[in-house]
Amino acid sequence: MSILDEAKKYERADCEQDRVFYQAMEEVLFSIAPLLESDKIYARHAIVDRLVVPDRVIKFKVTWMDDNQQIRVNTGYRVQFNNSLGPYKGGLRFHPTVNEGVLKFLGFEQIFKNSLTGLPIGGAKGGSDFDPKGKSDFEIMKFCSAFMRELYKHIGPRIDVPAGDIGVGAREIGYLFGEYKKITLSYEGVLTGKPFMFGGSLMRPEATGYGVVYFTQTMLDMEGKESLKGKICTISGAGNVAIHTIEKLKQIGAIPVSCSDSKGTIYDAEGIDVALLKELKNVRRVSLTEYLQTRPNAKYIPVEEYPKGGHAVWNIPCYAAFPCATQNELTEIDAQNLIHNGCVSVSEGANMPSTPEAIEAFLSHKICFAPAKAANAGGVAVSEFEMSQNASMQRWSFEKVDARLKTTMQEICKRVVLTAKDYGVEGNYVDGANIAGFKKVADAMIAEGI
Ligand code: NDP
Repeated sequence: MSILDEAKKYERADCEQDRVFYQAMEEVLFSIAPLLESDKIYARHAIVDRLVVPDRVIKFKVTWMDDNQQIRVNTGYRVQFNNSLGPYKGGLRFHPTVNEGVLKFLGFEQIFKNSLTGLPIGGAKGGSDFDPKGKSDFEIMKFCSAFMRELYKHIGPRIDVPAGDIGVGAREIGYLFGEYKKITLSYEGVLTGKPFMFGGSLMRPEATGYGVVYFTQTMLDMEGKESLKGKICTISGAGNVAIHTIEKLKQIGAIPVSCSDSKGTIYDAEGIDVALLKELKNVRRVSLTEYLQTRPNAKYIPVEEYPKGGHAVWNIPCYAAFPCATQNELTEIDAQNLIHNGCVSVSEGANMPSTPEAIEAFLSHKICFAPAKAANAGGVAVSEFEMSQNASMQRWSFEKVDARLKTTMQEICKRVVLTAKDYGVEGNYVDGANIAGFKKVADAMIAEGI
């Protein structure tokens, strides 16, 4: 049975949890098929069969007490997927939709993303079905402490170094780090995305969003397209990645006109007010509807008024689009709307935000399409810079981190372009990223033996 037949078992199994994992796996397997065909060494070493199964999945109970003295129970996970290139590395997600399948998809993607950075980091992901929304600061702290009381047994600066993701920012990383320190008595770089005062890297919060823009600038340049300066850009999401994508776009003179959360979309034709967005989402943690109180000329479109089968953000005509919220948020209908409205490039800030049908539409219409594992690798790259700073007890300046981030994103882009050319799929960044990411991990696995 071929590995693709093997992969199809997931589809037949109708296992809802594993659908996103199957989707991520299928994309990689299709991209690397020509490489597997031309170089039999990977088949001889059963690399694909070994790569699609995580090294281990740790699943645990998290018991904590809420502000009403009620005992609550959640499930925690850490999927340690592959450490051929370095310690396991990947974020923690706190969201009610988290389950083993979602974390397997994210951990699998993380292997290739981390490989593409050229840095010594393996792939992992973790999190919990805990919903931080509506919880008090104290409840967040209680949950993070309880979560770490199990997780600490499985991580370490040379073993596995988690970071943030959806629902996990500097506040949560701070509480997790505090608990780890209390349990182990060890003050070490076991988490990244820490606040600056206790070992965080400058620019880690900005890294993913800024990196997406750096990647897009390089891609447009290499493809002979006009730069982003003065161009309308649309962005989904209103979290860490979206905010910093918008911020960097403004800094380079582009016009980011949208953002969204799970309830609705803001369309601000004059350009999104980043300071206001940060105040609403990072400080007050309120809905986007409040944006209109300060910016009455902007428009709020609630989810109920979205086009059928589509998303309001992708209905707005733009030069470049940046999906930065969550997986499978951009459908085929959205892709057709973007193409119809003259969009030239799509860069994935979120992980796997475009459905396979949407990607197919972008590729067949020769849209410059930057897949997540290449375009959003800036976050994990700066996380690795944080590990380096912690290990050497150094502090890098904002300028130094920014310069390294920019160079890293440019190099990833060039690596992807050259790999695509080498394998006869010029201009296809999906295949280029998957082949380049796979090859490095696979070669390391062969060198390390079974
Ligand atoms: P945040 O929690 O900071 O923000 C997530 C944003 O997406 C929020 O605005 C949230 O809205 C929205 N969102 C989440 N789920 C949904 C949904 N089902 N439908 C509509 N909107 C939704 O997360 P991040 O910005 O950190 O992460 C966003 C994406 O980027 C994720 O795919 C993540 O894996 C990826 N990523 C993040 C990195 C990082 O450094 N943080 C690094 C690389 C990738 P609401 O608040 O209403 O839920």
